[in-house]
Amino acid sequence: MTGTVVITGASRGIGASTARMAAAGGYDVLVNYVGNREAAKDVARQVQSFGRKALIHQADVSDEMAVIEMFDEAESELGPVTAVVNNAGVLFELGRFESFEGDRLRRVVEVNVLGAMYCAREAVRRMSKASGGPGGVLVNVSSAASYLGSANEFVDYAATKGAMDTLTIGLGRELAPDGVRVNAVRPGLIRTDIHSSSGDPERVSRLEGNVPMGRGGEADEVASVIMWLLSDAASYVTGELINVTGGR
Ligand code: NAP
Repeated sequence: MTGTVVITGASRGIGASTARMAAAGGYDVLVNYVGNREAAKDVARQVQSFGRKALIHQADVSDEMAVIEMFDEAESELGPVTAVVNNAGVLFELGRFESFEGDRLRRVVEVNVLGAMYCAREAVRRMSKASGGPGGVLVNVSSAASYLGSANEFVDYAATKGAMDTLTIGLGRELAPDGVRVNAVRPGLIRTDIHSSSGDPERVSRLEGNVPMGRGGEADEVASVIMWLLSDAASYVTGELINVTGGR
């Protein structure tokens, strides 16, 4: 089933790759971003180059009303939402847990947990057959950090991804009778801008020697798994957490 996909954090990295692949696969795409309008416009142009509709939409996913308005606009401009990729996420400087200030802890939870919950809730309200929707698919972008724990790096971030895993398992089961599949991907070390926020833009190169495959991954290698989960090829898969880590 194609239709309209809402992708949060689609201006860069894994979200942008997913937007391009979704367009190639026949979806119209809402390209969400928070600050990088030019990058979002670029992704929208790439979506259109596949002959699909693209809508860029600025919204901070941690703002509940902004998330509701974003889904309203997706429906009014692009048609019924049939797929959602909960991808927007943040992390902050590498360090030990006791050094993390309250503002940082609040922000990582607001964006990665509350933001994902607001988007998941709007997805369900609009897609669930129990609410009169067409059915659909939700893919959460979690992280290998949820099972590795990210000691001495960002335990706070890892814990938010643990919450996302639990959200995925619970919603997968809750919505299974209602025509909505819910799954997560858990990427490992992927070459995107997010590592700059950790204060070590070379983090992937520094750590990739510990990956069983011996290399970091590319955003497209995560996006292709997201696309599989969105597709009917995964029609009997729900509540699952799929690692995309090169064996890490
Ligand atoms: P990225 O390259 O830093 O891109 C982040 C995207 O999220 C951007 O489009 C950004 O928008 C958007 N964003 C950030 N805060 C937002 C907010 N409050 N509201 C809406 N959008 C927001 O990151 P990435 O590596 O592709 O990460 C995507 C997801 O994969 C995240 O959930 C991350 O935790 C997860 N992940 C990444 C890795 C990795 O190694 N890269 C590994 C495991 C999991 P702007 O461009 O407007 O700033």
